Amino acid sequence: MTEEETVVQQMVVQQMVVQPLVPPGAATCTVTFTAIFTRITATRHGMNGATPDSLMLSPTDQFHLRRAYDEAVIGFDEGGCPIGSLLARGDVVLASGRNRRVQQGDPIAHGEMDALRRAGRQTTYRDTTLYTSLSPCMMCSGTIVQFGIPRVVIGENQNFGGNEDFLRERGVQVVIANDPGCIALMERFIREKPELWAEDIAQQL
Ligand SMILES: [Zn+2]
Repeated sequence: MTEEETVVQQMVVQQMVVQPLVPPGAATCTVTFTAIFTRITATRHGMNGATPDSLMLSPTDQFHLRRAYDEAVIGFDEGGCPIGSLLARGDVVLASGRNRRVQQGDPIAHGEMDALRRAGRQTTYRDTTLYTSLSPCMMCSGTIVQFGIPRVVIGENQNFGGNEDFLRERGVQVVIANDPGCIALMERFIREKPELWAEDIAQQL
């Protein structure tokens, strides 16, 4: 539950306590209301089990993240690692890309690196957001910091993650969408091609 939701809920509970019409079974009413309130909040944002980070996704974020996911799906169909990315300046897409380790025999061509390469030279990255279907590895996180990209929207960090604090500690805003589609795609890839996944993250099986 977000801080905002907690505050609102506490206000509601306080109102119920001082409300003279509350019957003796007020405690039961409060519990019931809490459950309803949580459902309403999730519904208002169009998602179930929403996390605080995912509530920070704007419609533009959702659109760009979807395109990064589409890149990941293309990569999967190509037999590669299904990780897609996109660099945007507001509504404007500068480039999208995907992991091409298999397709190009290039171990450095992670989704984020591919999108940045395809975006070409930029005078500044200070007004950009990088979208990626999977939490960035240290190579990509280092590049994000090196290029001064201020904001990263991550599709999911359940199948891989751990560099979010590295980014946050360097002033990067990190938004984690916990997107079910991104999670399911990576789960399937890791299940079906564990050797390729181990190769991509430099781990021994
Ligand atoms: Zn990477």
